[in-house]
Amino acid sequence: MSRVYNFSAGPATLPLEVLEQAQAEMLDWHGSGMSVMEMSHRGKDYMSIAAKAEADLRELMSIPENYKVLFLQGGASSQFAMVPINLLGEKKTADYLLTGQWSKKAVAEGKRYCDINLVADTTDSKFTTVPAESALSFSKDAAYVHYTPNETIVGVEFPYIPDTGDVPLVADMSSNILSRRIDVSKFGVIYAGAQKNIGPAGLTIVIVREDLIGNANPAMPTMMDYKTHADNDSMYNTPPTYSWYMAGLVFAWCLKQGGLEAIEKINQRKAEKLYAAIDESSFYSNPVDVNCRSWMNVPFILANADLDAAFLEQAAANGLTTLKGHRSVGGMRASIYNAMPEAGVDALIEFMREFERTKG
Ligand SMILES: *Cc1c(COP(=O)(O)O)cnc(C)c1O
Repeated sequence: MSRVYNFSAGPATLPLEVLEQAQAEMLDWHGSGMSVMEMSHRGKDYMSIAAKAEADLRELMSIPENYKVLFLQGGASSQFAMVPINLLGEKKTADYLLTGQWSKKAVAEGKRYCDINLVADTTDSKFTTVPAESALSFSKDAAYVHYTPNETIVGVEFPYIPDTGDVPLVADMSSNILSRRIDVSKFGVIYAGAQKNIGPAGLTIVIVREDLIGNANPAMPTMMDYKTHADNDSMYNTPPTYSWYMAGLVFAWCLKQGGLEAIEKINQRKAEKLYAAIDESSFYSNPVDVNCRSWMNVPFILANADLDAAFLEQAAANGLTTLKGHRSVGGMRASIYNAMPEAGVDALIEFMREFERTKG
């Protein structure tokens, strides 16, 4: 077997121990004589898997009791609609911070349901910065405030949590959930597609404060109502059972690493050494403001774009893959989620130095 260091932005690399455990349990989960994929979601074996996953996530993130954790399908992209459908109530406007390609999509979808007030718009900076906290002024009549704490494509991450007072704060944490400790009580809704830092694609986690459930627009489909899923422990219909199980293995792995406190330290170290290598070099550069560089997604460009293809080819030959930057940004992007070992980041840095020395 030969595994590469896979820097994909998502679906992304998973912890080797988790894959090995899944492999060992593949054909016969804990003496049940069947794979988790083949189990009824209503049987006691699967119920125990589902409950353990939720309990471990609650422990990891210290999720307060007055929050529900939903295990849904539809990706983060469905939440772009479910958030307004569930949170608008009688209100007609919502505040959005537009800081990258993902928040832009959230805004576009939100506009189908309400008037949107852009509290911040960093388009002119090509999304390489975030607004100063002091520059944010929220509307009084907004049903909620939506933002994207980590913009996966350009690699820009908020260094603060906006203070929205009594207005619920909604965060698309698809690419930075579980990367560090956060105070869940500051949020009304946190949602994340699983395929970056949680597990395989097909699962979407929604953490929602209980008082925000039960106000969905009744004209909308039953499946779009948080209450449907909250009332049925995310088993109103068949949930993405295998992805949920895999997410559970990842949550247990995170706890084994020492929880988010320990993971946060490793993530900070990984990011800092990669940015330091980029900044030290005159061949590589990263355009994002230093105070809001993402710990998870690190784009960098080569001084000579003609060398991009050679860089990617030689990196792959060295077991470092999926480094091509997003088509809208060009250059390279290394996504270094929790499951990317520090040794993978070290190997990338070493390769970058060697490439610069021989080609740069
Ligand atoms: C990947 C990503 C999405 C899209 O997630 P899907 O699950 O594919 O819908 C949305 N927001 C952010 C921040 C992402 O990184």
